[in-house]
Amino acid sequence: MIDLTKKQLSKTYSISDRTIELYEQAIDDIKEQFAIYDEIREYNQLKVLSALQAERISDSHFTNSSGYGYGDIGRDSLDKVYARVFNCESALVRPHFVNGTHALGAALFGNLRPGDTMISICGTPYDTLHNVIGISDKKNIGSLREYGVNYKQIDLTSDGGFNFDKIKVELESDKSIKLVHIQRSTGYGWRKALLISDIKEIINFVKNIRPEVICFVDNCYGEFLDTQEPTDVGADLVAGSLIKNIGGGIAPTGGYIAGKEEYVTQASYRLTVPGIGGECGSTFGVMRLLYQGLFLAPQVAIEAVKGALFCARIMELAGFEVLPKYTDKRSDIIQAIKFNDKEKLINFCKGIQLGSPIDSFVQCEPWDMPGYTDQVIMAAGAFIQGSSIELSADAPIREPYIAYLQGGLTFDHAKIGILIALSKVIG
Ligand SMILES: *Cc1c(COP(=O)(O)O)cnc(C)c1O
Repeated sequence: MIDLTKKQLSKTYSISDRTIELYEQAIDDIKEQFAIYDEIREYNQLKVLSALQAERISDSHFTNSSGYGYGDIGRDSLDKVYARVFNCESALVRPHFVNGTHALGAALFGNLRPGDTMISICGTPYDTLHNVIGISDKKNIGSLREYGVNYKQIDLTSDGGFNFDKIKVELESDKSIKLVHIQRSTGYGWRKALLISDIKEIINFVKNIRPEVICFVDNCYGEFLDTQEPTDVGADLVAGSLIKNIGGGIAPTGGYIAGKEEYVTQASYRLTVPGIGGECGSTFGVMRLLYQGLFLAPQVAIEAVKGALFCARIMELAGFEVLPKYTDKRSDIIQAIKFNDKEKLINFCKGIQLGSPIDSFVQCEPWDMPGYTDQVIMAAGAFIQGSSIELSADAPIREPYIAYLQGGLTFDHAKIGILIALSKVIG
């Protein structure tokens, strides 16, 4: 960092010399790691480029359909581009999914029937899915459980691995198990994201026992962190959000589902209705943004992961426990920092807000968010509301007070935001 930048940082945000010292060391320590991610980015850029070329995407795909949206070639071709990127039969990419939870919910509701059981093998699924499944402490109205779909759960072992023995017993003894739920990213947990190699191993294990069981992966935050996606290693179905990695910071809203055609079609009947599926739905002129976002996504995801890596190292140097560590192989863009202190946690999030391009003048406070059990604080000064591929930090207000940082459309912005946040915590 040149002196001019340092001076400006200390002048504008009162960043201490101590924070700058930690910065210099952290940057030095993480350099080597970056090479790994640069290579992944390069490969994925090629993958996306080839998919766009293979589908012969042109200006005419950036259509603006209305009404029923019959024959919207922009929409239908983007599905094919995604299917190529995910190396699978079919995809459903829609601005009509209001968020990732909606896409995940459509995949689950579309593929499960009364009497079926879904089993999560990574412990408790992401918070917003609790209402979908019917395991929240609220009334669970409209949940899978209310429709007669059972839920079972097997926790990860204490070292973060799968409990293979238990999974085997359940699969062999409970023939009602129709779908295995695998969550790639950490969510609001204290564990590492599942690597593609982990996902491959567990899917092979499941398929060896019960080949007909649907292996479903919540792929939120994981896209483009590896040269392969879960669908490359046997996942039958994946889903995620367009305002995370794969929207490249450009997609204004939406979600996607990808996988075997049969399962994607079932899910599409839940986005719309049986018989209509993905064949209707006008796209309001947003298709170009979804294409362009996908094109930029390999780059943006890696910028974000560099921010996370930097955060891991500098927070560790400042004395906080972090997960993953800067040397760990990553499979999502999340960085968890344990504060063991409510005030420090809140100050960190406020610092991220202060360093945002939008709403930097706003104080974020904990609140009761729809879909979440504990109060949550969310620092998000983003161009797209709630977009977490943009630099953001959030935390459920519960012990041991862990903040989850993610995003950063540019590594430089992530660095600045994190410096401001750290100096809010250590002074
Ligand atoms: C973000 C996320 C979701 C979906 O959240 P939305 O805010 O609804 O997009 C689901 N699972 C995981 C692991 C996530 O990170």
